[in-house]
Formats: sequence, structure tokens, C-alpha cells
Amino acid sequence: MTILEASELYRFYHSGDDETFALRGVSLHVEGGEMVAVVGPSGSGKSTLLNCLAGLDEPDGGWVAVEGRRLTRRPETKRDEMRGELIGVLLQSANLLDHLSVIGNVRIAQAFGKRAALSDPATLLDEVGLRHRTDAFPSTLSGGEATRAALAVALANNPPLLLADEPTGEVDHEAERALIDLLLARTSRGGAVVVVTHSDEVAAAAHRVVQLVDGRTSDA
Ligand code: ADP
Repeated sequence: MTILEASELYRFYHSGDDETFALRGVSLHVEGGEMVAVVGPSGSGKSTLLNCLAGLDEPDGGWVAVEGRRLTRRPETKRDEMRGELIGVLLQSANLLDHLSVIGNVRIAQAFGKRAALSDPATLLDEVGLRHRTDAFPSTLSGGEATRAALAVALANNPPLLLADEPTGEVDHEAERALIDLLLARTSRGGAVVVVTHSDEVAAAAHRVVQLVDGRTSDA
């Protein structure tokens, strides 16, 4: 079953007389059970693509649909609502609220989401290997723990699509392997994962690798 469909995405940025073509017609199709790695040099458009797929940014051309529902060219409030229901987003800056404990962060994500959560927060934290840090506050977490806590928040509503931007950038080799296993576990349950990465290990674990060069997909 198709989870994510992105068709001919274009994104331009203007500053003064300068125009940057961040995306120049990127299409992507991801099935349930599939993990796709997006790789490419710095400035090739990876983060822009992920933001457009998440509905955090609006492309200037093309469209994105998740589970057959169009996300593009809708009011921001509607995109936020659809993201809460359909998409888990794991960004480089961990999406944790500092004044809440780890489990408090998961609970608040579930409170804002629309899906009936399949896991209770403690079970979810168990799955990401954070049971022992349930009541810890974000400022006391290591880089790897913060990433796993952010993953638990991203998965709080059991979304069909998980989008992750460089999730293993801050973690050691062992934690990277554990994160890869967690991402793959989503796909074995039928979910779709798109992960922007510089890591050869993450790319090797993915079912498919998409390379971006100058805002276009490349076979290189
Ligand atoms: P990557 O994630 O592959 O490093 P980005 O998607 O961040 O690439 O950026 C792609 C291009 O778009 C770069 O040339 C970058 O400078 C430009 N860009 C990204 N965001 C903005 C923005 N908000 N304003 C202007 N230019 C931007």
C-alpha cells in the first residue's frame, strides 16, 4: 500500500536578487514496509524535501499525499492536523519540551494527536529503550537518549509515516545501530520511513536510497 506520494516538488527561495532552487522537480513514492534513505551533499535540498513532505513547508510546485490524502496547498492548521494524525517527524533539534519529563512529552504528543494510540507511553518508552529514563527531564539526557525520546514522541500516535532528519548525527556507533533497528521495526509493522542521512550504515540498512544533487534526484 502506498503511504507517501510526492510528485514533482519544486521549492525556490528568494533573498534580494538571489534565487535559490532548493528542489527542482523531486518525486518520491514510498510503500508501507519500506525505509528510504535520502542522501546527498550539503545544500542539495534534503532538509527542504523533508520539510515539504512533513507539510512544515509548502512547495512552490508539485504536491504531497499521505495515505492518499493531499497535504499540499491546505491551510497551515489543516496541515498541522494531518501531520498529527499521519506523520511522525524526527528533526535534528530534538522535539522535546524541556519542562516535561520524557513520559510527559509522550503523553502530551498523544493528547494532541488524533489517532487512538496503540501503545501506552510506558510501553513505547520500553520499545525505544528508555524505560529507565521515563521520569527524566530532557536536559539530563545524553544525545542518544534525547534522540530516542524524540523518536518516542514522533511515534506517540502510531503514524503510518515517519520522517527523520539525520537521526544518528549525534550518537555513537552502538546507539546508531539501535536506532536503525527501531526505524526498521516500523517498517516490519507496515509503516513507511524516510530518513535523511549522511551515515553509510543507515543508507545500507535502507531498502532504497534516493540521492539528491542540486535539488534533483540522481542515480549516481
Ligand atoms: P541540505 O539539507 O541537503 O543541506 P537544504 O534543503 O538545507 O539542503 O538547502 C537547499 C538549498 O536551499 C541550499 O542552497 C540552501 O542554502 C537553500 N535554503 C534552504 N533553506 C533556505 C531558506 N529558508 N532561505 C533561503 N535559502 C534556503
